Amino acid sequence: MSHLKGGEFLIKETLAEDIFIPEEFSEDTKMMADATTEFIEKEVVPQRERFEKKDYEFTFELMKKAGELGLLGVGVPENYGGLGLDFNATMLICDRISGISGSLSTAYGAHTGIGTLPILLYGNEEQKQKYLPRLASGEWMSCYCLTEPGAGSDANSGKTKAVLSDDGKHYLITGQKMWISNAGFANLLIVFARIEDDKNITAFLVERDYNGITMNEEEDKLGIKSSSTRQVFFNDTKVPVENMLSERGNGFKIAMNALNVGRIKLCAACLDSGRRVTSLATKYANERIQFKVPISSFGAIKHKIAEMATRTYASESAAYRVGQDIEDNINRLASEGFSPQESKLKGVEEFAIECAIMKVHGSEMVDYVVDEGLQIYGGMGFSTETPMEAAYRDARISRIYEGTNEINRMLIVGMLLKKALKGELDLIGPATKVGEELMSIPSFDTPDYSVLFTEEKETLQKLKKAILMVSGKAVETFGMNVEEEQEILMSVADMIIETYVAESCILRTEKLVAKNGEANCAAQIAMAQLYLSNAVDKVNRAGKEAIAAFTEGDEQRIMLMGLKRFTKTQLANTKDLRRKIADKVIAESKYPF
Ligand SMILES: Cc1cc2nc3c(=O)[nH]c(=O)nc-3n(C[C@H](O)[C@H](O)[C@H](O)COP(=O)(O)OP(=O)(O)OC[C@H]3O[C@@H](n4cnc5c(N)ncnc54)[C@H](O)[C@@H]3O)c2cc1C
Repeated sequence: MSHLKGGEFLIKETLAEDIFIPEEFSEDTKMMADATTEFIEKEVVPQRERFEKKDYEFTFELMKKAGELGLLGVGVPENYGGLGLDFNATMLICDRISGISGSLSTAYGAHTGIGTLPILLYGNEEQKQKYLPRLASGEWMSCYCLTEPGAGSDANSGKTKAVLSDDGKHYLITGQKMWISNAGFANLLIVFARIEDDKNITAFLVERDYNGITMNEEEDKLGIKSSSTRQVFFNDTKVPVENMLSERGNGFKIAMNALNVGRIKLCAACLDSGRRVTSLATKYANERIQFKVPISSFGAIKHKIAEMATRTYASESAAYRVGQDIEDNINRLASEGFSPQESKLKGVEEFAIECAIMKVHGSEMVDYVVDEGLQIYGGMGFSTETPMEAAYRDARISRIYEGTNEINRMLIVGMLLKKALKGELDLIGPATKVGEELMSIPSFDTPDYSVLFTEEKETLQKLKKAILMVSGKAVETFGMNVEEEQEILMSVADMIIETYVAESCILRTEKLVAKNGEANCAAQIAMAQLYLSNAVDKVNRAGKEAIAAFTEGDEQRIMLMGLKRFTKTQLANTKDLRRKIADKVIAESKYPF
């Protein structure tokens, strides 16, 4: 079990035995996950084309069936009609249900995540008793109405109003919401509105049958064509005062906390797509003959297959590491006497940085995988006859919703700095040490590199130093105004994301090797090494861009020397690593990890 706090990975070392790896899920959880996959294979895969025909009814039917199987209530405690699975197990179900269709994935995420969590995390007993069993069983569907035409990323700026009625029994909600997933079939709407001139919005539980609710037609979208997305209008909609969620002015906090979970689960929702697209593309590459041989025998195609598999594996390694860290934290808080609700809330909030990291990584991983998957299919990839075309379009939304990747990148660094300022995370001490190290002569001791991953772990420590050096100097230069220096924040965020995911990939593989032996993990070792090698290059490039943006003269020279020192590694033969990985995937004709 990891004892690290959120963000602490940057300044402390984690041991392989401290992280959870997906291979360690219990038999019960695996059975539940396999039942989910069976549902997808039986009910969804054969009907794939229906998703492209704006068949909202089909998505709704599938959601109902998922409800009958208990899949909508995996995260809801048993006393409210759910299955009460652990946090990480709910991630796995979200992962498995999302594989083949972005439409179903979005509907599932909107319902079980942002559409249920606010009640679970902030509802009072009466609200939980009334709504959670219906949502867990699928009797009712829900949606989350935060975004407005003028309030997207700036979510707290919405104009929707909630006015207390003269008799004090209702709030009258008036306003317009936009891009609302599941709106077409939702029975319950979680609506964010402003009371008077409050600084922060307030959340309300609004039933579809209440007066004054109308909707526009379905949006015509690039992808996730059968996910219902509508504008919703409220015109003096009478909402009983007891349907306020939590307290007045608490809506923004609720919205953000629901999004923390939404973000890590969005990453989980990208994983099966990564695996399935890699499998499909590999199978195609094995069957497609050009120049008298299967195209999978070409180095250029092997390169793609290896990268697709590696990035999927890496994202998966980090996602379930975070999932377990959250779960352990929830359990720790519960054992310290916090209520189940508070434990869940604080348990996740602690890892908000990691949730944002994984949102960005998962969504960019899947975008890369579908793009290369389509490329492997060549012209056929561009045809609606093959699954690549839809997968390519469906994947694109993930970089936009649950906070755009730009917003999440800035949050990663912003939250780290805030934690440091509040004294919750000692970034200043380690950053100062790195500064001192820069001025000293480098050590020429060579550790025993014959032990697997010794060198890689040393590299990871250096990457963390590079992050501390660049971010420390940026804060020293700009103070808290660094938040205005978005380009620098984006570079630092990239350095952090790559380092965290590379570390997770190495630690998972180390744990696997300890369990199964080096010979049985040759491809995983190659993936961990390949990921790290790519990460070092990305950290170096992002570091250079940041340094160039705000330093000059001697200071710049010292920092560039430092960056060089911290990103110096033995040159990896990435061609051989990729071949090793691709040969394994190609031999099995699917993503085999
Ligand atoms: C298919 C779909 C389903 C959705 N489902 C839901 C839902 O169920 N419920 C819901 O409430 N919302 C939903 N959304 C809305 C979604 O969360 C928003 O689209 C998203 O938050 C971005 O807001 P926006 O579209 O207004 O873009 P904008 O905020 O206008 O952003 C446009 C661009 O500017 C960038 N940008 C914005 N602010 C900054 C800044 N401060 N610094 C730097 N760059 C910035 C963004 O990163 C982006 O690249 C959905 C959207 C879509 C497309």
